[in-house]
Amino acid sequence: MLSVEEARERIAGHARLTAVERLPLERCAGRVPAAFWVMAGIDVPPFDNSAMDGYAVRAADTPGELPLVGEVAAGAAELPIVAPGTATRILTGAPLPPGADSVVPQELATEADGVVRLPAAVARTHIRTRGEDTRAGDRVELAREPLSAAGLAVLASLGIAELEVRRRPRVALLSTGDELAPVGARLRPGQIHDANAVSLAAAVADAGGEAVPLPVAGDDAETVRQRVSTGVAQGDLLVVSGGVSVGRHDHLRDVIESLGTLDFWRIAVQPGKPLAFGRVGDRPVIGLPGNPVSALVTFELFVRPLLRRMLGMQGDGRLHLRARAAQRIAKHLDRRAYLRVVLTPEGDGWVAHSAGGQGSAQLRGMAAANGLLVIPEGADAAEPGTLYDAVLFGEIR
Ligand code: AMP
Ligand code: MG
Repeated sequence: MLSVEEARERIAGHARLTAVERLPLERCAGRVPAAFWVMAGIDVPPFDNSAMDGYAVRAADTPGELPLVGEVAAGAAELPIVAPGTATRILTGAPLPPGADSVVPQELATEADGVVRLPAAVARTHIRTRGEDTRAGDRVELAREPLSAAGLAVLASLGIAELEVRRRPRVALLSTGDELAPVGARLRPGQIHDANAVSLAAAVADAGGEAVPLPVAGDDAETVRQRVSTGVAQGDLLVVSGGVSVGRHDHLRDVIESLGTLDFWRIAVQPGKPLAFGRVGDRPVIGLPGNPVSALVTFELFVRPLLRRMLGMQGDGRLHLRARAAQRIAKHLDRRAYLRVVLTPEGDGWVAHSAGGQGSAQLRGMAAANGLLVIPEGADAAEPGTLYDAVLFGEIR
């Protein structure tokens, strides 16, 4: 059996960067820039402007009582000249009028009968100077991570209306199993709803990919073969759930072997021991266990890092930490377990409570979890009070 690290390395080794596409900035939220930097074409801010509502003056005229001459608001294109011994009302974001070198905030002044009284001397303050954030010609670094609201605002402020980003990896998704019925269907005897089609599509989107759903394949080799062929044609990679084990109705391994190459299929991990990885043509095919919790946990461990690599990112983008188990949680002795837990900050560390049933089909424990607690091979349980590695994948409650 392979270790998790070996398996992850082998899988990520098959990542190929997706192509570049040019998008309008408003469609770039969450997208990963393809370039390392952009060149600033303008200064930001483009002109000296006021950081406050107040009065534009010459510092040399303060303290003093100055006649108020005119007003300049944000967006003003024609500016009054602030003559020596006078003040001009100015509003936040307005260009600093020529002659003035300081802004006195409104709350430090009193105004009566067209005269402004400034009790204190001021220096050149409350001015945002041209180019103080960015200068034309500067290289503005772009992180290899999904563009945040603030990152987009930086580009917008520079007037960059389009950006080259990595195309989302297309992930063909195939659920297999004679027992599967669509989520909207009324269940006939022996049937269950196809939970993985929905959960894996969401996990793909969360990892920056685009899910391409395929029709469910029953447990017959020919249908699985057809779907796998379609899947590798439609996706940059194919993720299959179910049918990867050694049961008489598990066909995926044979199908991968007949259409391409199969690299391995067992990993020392709980949940998720049966896991297939192979290639058909140059397309990776990953067979996840059908159990819905196993499918999601193995997606997190093996598919998410692959998708990130295809987008030019590294690692899994998760917070890795150490957490103290709050209670005993049993596991398989010989496999590394990724237990579903709720991670909570406590004191200067983290505590892990079991998120519910740890069975690989017990979805509600997975849904309640915000993290995984990693218990090494050779232990038969997480022991209360003991520190373990943990991965935070959700929000803190
Ligand atoms: P398998 O990996 O095909 O042996 O399936 C293992 C378990 O997961 C079985 O109980 C299946 O019924 C269940 N299962 C397989 N695929 C799905 C799916 N798409 N949605 C929900 N449960 C599934
Ligand atoms: Mg099955």
